[in-house]
Amino acid sequence: MHLLVLNCGSSSIKADVLDPATGERVLRARAERIGTEAGVLRINGAAPTGLVTVDVASAIERLLPALLDALPDGITLAGTAHRVVHGGERFTHSVRIDDEVEAGIEALNPIAPLHNPANLAGIRGARRLLSGLEHIAVFDTAFHATLPRRARSYALPASLTREHGIRRYGFHGISHAYVAQRAADYLVGDLRDLRLITCHLGNGASVCAVEYGRSIETSMGMTPLEGLVMGTRCGDLDPGILLHLLREGYTEEQLDHLLNRQSGLAGLSGLGNDLRDIEEQAADGNERAQLAIHIYAHRVRKYIGAYTAILGGVDGIVFTGGIGENSALMRHRITQRLDFLGARLDEEANREADATVRRDGVADFSTRGSRSRLLVVATDEEHAIAMSAARLLLDRDRVRGARPIPVAVSARHVHLTQSHVEALFGEGHTLTERNPLSQPGQFACEETVTLIGPKRSLERVRVLGPARPESQVEISRTDEFFLGIDAPVRASGDINNTPGIVLEGPAGRVTLERGVICAWRHIHMTPEDSDHFGVADGDIVEVAVSSAEQRDLVFGGVLIRVSPSFQLEMHIDTDEGNAAGLCKDARGVLLATGGTASLQRRGTIHDRIPEAAE
Ligand code: ADP
Repeated sequence: MHLLVLNCGSSSIKADVLDPATGERVLRARAERIGTEAGVLRINGAAPTGLVTVDVASAIERLLPALLDALPDGITLAGTAHRVVHGGERFTHSVRIDDEVEAGIEALNPIAPLHNPANLAGIRGARRLLSGLEHIAVFDTAFHATLPRRARSYALPASLTREHGIRRYGFHGISHAYVAQRAADYLVGDLRDLRLITCHLGNGASVCAVEYGRSIETSMGMTPLEGLVMGTRCGDLDPGILLHLLREGYTEEQLDHLLNRQSGLAGLSGLGNDLRDIEEQAADGNERAQLAIHIYAHRVRKYIGAYTAILGGVDGIVFTGGIGENSALMRHRITQRLDFLGARLDEEANREADATVRRDGVADFSTRGSRSRLLVVATDEEHAIAMSAARLLLDRDRVRGARPIPVAVSARHVHLTQSHVEALFGEGHTLTERNPLSQPGQFACEETVTLIGPKRSLERVRVLGPARPESQVEISRTDEFFLGIDAPVRASGDINNTPGIVLEGPAGRVTLERGVICAWRHIHMTPEDSDHFGVADGDIVEVAVSSAEQRDLVFGGVLIRVSPSFQLEMHIDTDEGNAAGLCKDARGVLLATGGTASLQRRGTIHDRIPEAAE
């Protein structure tokens, strides 16, 4: 199998045709200095040809036909994998690209203005020119989707961060994930048993704490500006500095240019962003160059110390990227005197470390007795992107659709008939809307009732409106034990042979003869959604949800409910939500069904599951 991997930046395009199983390239094309008179295209390292184009979109139009022409005989493309820098909250895994996904990536342009528009231009051009192929998007932020809330939140007012989508996302995830796996292979361990700190030190730079295979902290934040000192980016700053400069008359563009292009190693040294030049000047006694190196190394050490504390110990510290792989001096400055955390530098091994010449791509520069290993790992982001895309292509039958499903946790609640509303809240009373719910026309009410069970009572249980033809109480299994009631798992409205309960409101009590259920986990969707997912009303599916608290779950026995008046959303109860460690804005992925079952209005889920599995 061979895939085309496209990595489109604002002034360059990297296009590799490779075998995802081995990473072996059969073709490389590079377009550089796009948008300038000096633009060039190189295929397989041959002499460059002129490629004067105004932007990435026109460069891709020229590059792809040339690349297809140069494809060796016998090589066919099984798909195209696109690197996308920012996946936002939505894209937490690689996805097949359709028009809707393309629009979703475009919607992220405002939070990744330097990167996503170029990625998108590549996607659009390639989808048009290679329309017979599947296109997959692989995101730099996706690996960090597991950041716990405490790591991904800024200490700003919650309403503001919600409104503006302000949170930490992290970047370089493709590289961090790849080198962490390589390090685990070298350590002959399972990534799930290891605590690693991966340092990607290239022109951009970030550190990641990888706890048992999952990113739990990383130094880049909402944008790739936070964290380490980089080639031209400043990394961490006191935000008060920005306020000060604004008061001094700096404009938004000037600040942007200052922080992204004039800072970092270039700003500190005054010598440009290439560490090779800075190291050379430092050796000749240039004090600014020496200070730049000191500050760079100090910042990385600071993060390693902090991340070791967060991980509660570290089994390996991994260096990658142009600087991490090539600068023995920088690795030395960063890793000397880390013995206190169990990492002991072997100076000679460090000087000689060259991961690229080793078959496994790993060079160990720690001493024999070092409890925590110091490793150089050659990153290969194109290979990582191809592997991720290949997994998705080969897993075609399992993952039914790229569209993520919002998951909402329903707290215990009550639906009432109008006559019960009046019995509980007074004659002529009608329900008062407190806030709308996601399903059109549904709302949470100001009114609450007390559920009085045989054992105990539950107060302030929310009533949902509008009034219904039959009253119904939806509680969790934990609530059932608390109340002393045994209610079956049922679809909403399916209340034959269910237990009753006493409801109490300010104006009186109502004894329900029946109507207490534990809601059957279900997905509301429109007919268009059901076409997209290839499921029908009454089908039973599995949904995988990933959790910020390492409690990922696959929910089986999820009922599909289709109506033009629904909005796509999965509903689970509080027990289920807590079991999966779900928080607000959780999303699920629909997996293949175990079979179909038409929704019957009798029996419990326990009766239905065997039927579903037929
Ligand atoms: P990018 O983030 O653009 O992919 P790279 O990972 O290729 O960048 O890293 C580029 C940087 O690596 C260069 O700017 C240079 O500072 C540094 N670098 C490469 N080789 C060496 C070397 N031998 N010694 C010191 N620094 C090096």
